[in-house]
Amino acid sequence: MESYLAILQIPAVWLCTAAVLGLLTGSFLNVVVARLPVMMEREWHDDCTILQGGDPPERATFNLAVPRSHCPHCGEVLQARDLVPVLSWLWLRARCRHCQAAIAWRYPALELATAGLFVACASTFGVGVAAIAAMGYSAALLTLAAIDLDTMLLPDSLTQPLLWAGLVLTLTPWGWISVTDAVAGAAAGYAALWVVGTAFRLATGKEGMGQGDMKLLAAMGAWLGWQNLPGVVLAASLVGVAGGLGMRLAGRLAKDEPLPFGPCLAGAGLAALFWSDMMQWWR
Ligand SMILES: [Zn+2]
Repeated sequence: MESYLAILQIPAVWLCTAAVLGLLTGSFLNVVVARLPVMMEREWHDDCTILQGGDPPERATFNLAVPRSHCPHCGEVLQARDLVPVLSWLWLRARCRHCQAAIAWRYPALELATAGLFVACASTFGVGVAAIAAMGYSAALLTLAAIDLDTMLLPDSLTQPLLWAGLVLTLTPWGWISVTDAVAGAAAGYAALWVVGTAFRLATGKEGMGQGDMKLLAAMGAWLGWQNLPGVVLAASLVGVAGGLGMRLAGRLAKDEPLPFGPCLAGAGLAALFWSDMMQWWR
């Protein structure tokens, strides 16, 4: 075992391992992004039906593993050769092997983004558990950003484990911030957006900040420490305002249509992982 792990100390091997791990993880994240919101919606429907005294309908099993990956257009189950991250998409020229329907570019894009982030984690944190933890944090933020873009939801089933994982990491030898900074970060992250959201609601009578955004910033506070939060919130707000204006000018966003804040927060939270010094410019 020792000798197998020693080979990872060669920088090129470590970075390549991270890239391959990132591509495979990205492929799985595509499944999570597509299925988790559907699973949540079914659960809500079933809960409502039960509350109203009915019986939830019988349905075919649907979770992250079942049914097998298939073409959303023709339903043909994909073979292993069609599931190779990025490469299958290139080989198939972005078309389904069976029905020729276009395969969205966002699938390989998410795989490449995950690989890029994993390589960045590997190079920033070096060989070891800290890098693996940072990869987990990056993967969670990417998934949350993609789901929020699609559905305006930030599932508790992702933000809550992310928060706890961040706190627990500081109790291990591999954490890179203190327990105090992490707990203060989690509390301050939630509180900061709660204050903003409540002020917005009192001023406008509208819900401006989702609970999910507060939980996401709490989780990022647990991973990054409270010291990174001012920079993260500022960067996310700037990106949000610029993105909202840009999309409105381009006619992609209607006047009262809300913009998901999760992707802006996640982007800033990833930047803070790699450029913590820059995010703490105020210190
Ligand atoms: Zn097809």
